[in-house]
Amino acid sequence: MSLDPNAALVLFSGGQDSATCLAWALARFGRVETIGFDYRQRHRIELDVRAPLRAAISGAFPAWAAKLGDDHLLDLAVLGQISDTALTSEAAIAMQANGLPNTFVPGRNLLFFTFAAALAYRRGIKHVVTGVCETDYSGYPDCRDDTVKAMQLALNLGMDTRFVLHTPLMWIDKAQTWALAQELGGDALVEIIRTGSHSCYHGERATLHDWGYGCGTCPACELRAQGWHGYTARAD
Ligand code: ZN
Repeated sequence: MSLDPNAALVLFSGGQDSATCLAWALARFGRVETIGFDYRQRHRIELDVRAPLRAAISGAFPAWAAKLGDDHLLDLAVLGQISDTALTSEAAIAMQANGLPNTFVPGRNLLFFTFAAALAYRRGIKHVVTGVCETDYSGYPDCRDDTVKAMQLALNLGMDTRFVLHTPLMWIDKAQTWALAQELGGDALVEIIRTGSHSCYHGERATLHDWGYGCGTCPACELRAQGWHGYTARAD
């Protein structure tokens, strides 16, 4: 199987991290496709913002628009069937006895990597880009650097190929992720991600805060607000 070394597939959820990863890939590779997953998450809003977010990035950056290829939305309803978490059911967000928040969906990223690699294989794409991060990752074990490296090895062995899994955000915090967006696409990109991406666990998009839309109180909003304020404080 020959994979195009100039092509990348970005795991694009519609959040701040994956939007930044999309820009990172567009700045580096000649052909970039995106993949998203519908696993019957409690709020479809993050799926709904994906297309407008891609369109806004294309519209503002013509050189990137020429490289941006297909978007693939995979139906992973089966994940909702096997997990009972605060992201796929009406359960309240809480910390569990094992120290993990119940927003953790067991196996989710492992499945995402596997399906992304299967699609990349079919599309002849060598590079797979994901926004997972160890720095402020709520303790999710499937966001760890070692997990991603082990997945790369397993996928390459299992498909007899040579994918490269990229994690541009692995060692940076949310403030540095905003700074990376600024570096890649200036204030225009920062503004597109601020207003166009979605992070809130409650699917809230009624109020635009200085850091973007959200309820302002869930863990995802708190992390995003904290990162934004760190970024703007450093920029001043
Ligand atoms: Zn929220």
